[in-house]
Amino acid sequence: MTTPTPDPVTPEPVTPEPVTPEPAPPEPALRVQGIASGYGDIQVLRSVSVQVWPGRISVLLGSNGAGKTTTLRAVAGLNRVTVGSVQLLGRDVTTMPASERIRMGLGFVMEGKRLFHRRTVEENLLLGGYSKGHSRRALRHRAETMYERFPVLGERKRSRAGELSGGQQQMLAIAQALMAEPRVLLLDEPSAGLAPVIVTQVMAIVEELKIEGLGVLLVEQAAEEAVRIADHVTVLDVGRVVIDRPAREIEDVSVIRSAYLGGRRNRPDTTAPVPPPAEPSGA
Ligand code: ATP
Repeated sequence: MTTPTPDPVTPEPVTPEPVTPEPAPPEPALRVQGIASGYGDIQVLRSVSVQVWPGRISVLLGSNGAGKTTTLRAVAGLNRVTVGSVQLLGRDVTTMPASERIRMGLGFVMEGKRLFHRRTVEENLLLGGYSKGHSRRALRHRAETMYERFPVLGERKRSRAGELSGGQQQMLAIAQALMAEPRVLLLDEPSAGLAPVIVTQVMAIVEELKIEGLGVLLVEQAAEEAVRIADHVTVLDVGRVVIDRPAREIEDVSVIRSAYLGGRRNRPDTTAPVPPPAEPSGA
């Protein structure tokens, strides 16, 4: 009896796994490239670059006087940019007046909450949306959406802004900026002077805005809280960018803190060339 010779085993053709291409990173909604700016003859910023992506939070850190507010002011069109450029939603706005930038989709919550203190909460909101040229009825409708988001403002809509607590004024300042339907929001130290529980609330609001697709440029002294919600972190020191990287690469905020946020020891050589900005994490 002969054993049958087994059929030659023909290997199954291997179908290659379909390769999913990496999604292209979204275009930055705000691209600040190598700007110099200051006050009169005083140059504060030297070649500062910052980027903000839609639906992402970029955090700008630095010690007092590093140039964070000046950067926001230059982006908003409140300080002249003498070198470099600012692009908003793909358009060069370097020399565009501040009011036009707002119409294009730039929102700005200044440090110290520039509210109209003698006007009511509702009037402050309506004034915030005024630049869009909407009817009063449309503005009132938008104000209603702000009361849904910030119920305390709805409860106090007839109160004067100056009578609100610090945290409520901060909510109002953010709501006022949102009235103009921005796509990029600049927030200058929204947690300044607020109790820790309110800081947590403000950070939660900023995260919500990100989820809704806004690009946020957040300046903060509360570095740990800010980095926790950040997608990208840029650190300024004496008007120059010294760190610029995705937040996931920042392992220890205390290192940044001791080097650049007040501590003057362990400061690395800031004359070294600054690497180009990295793309956002998870993009
Ligand atoms: P802080 O956390 O204290 O707000 P910052 O990083 O926002 O600091 P900026 O307010 O941008 O710093 O100030 C940067 C530099 O510009 C500082 O040296 C400051 O003294 C100077 N400066 C700010 N505002 C003016 C002004 N209106 N006129 C002249 N110099 C100014």
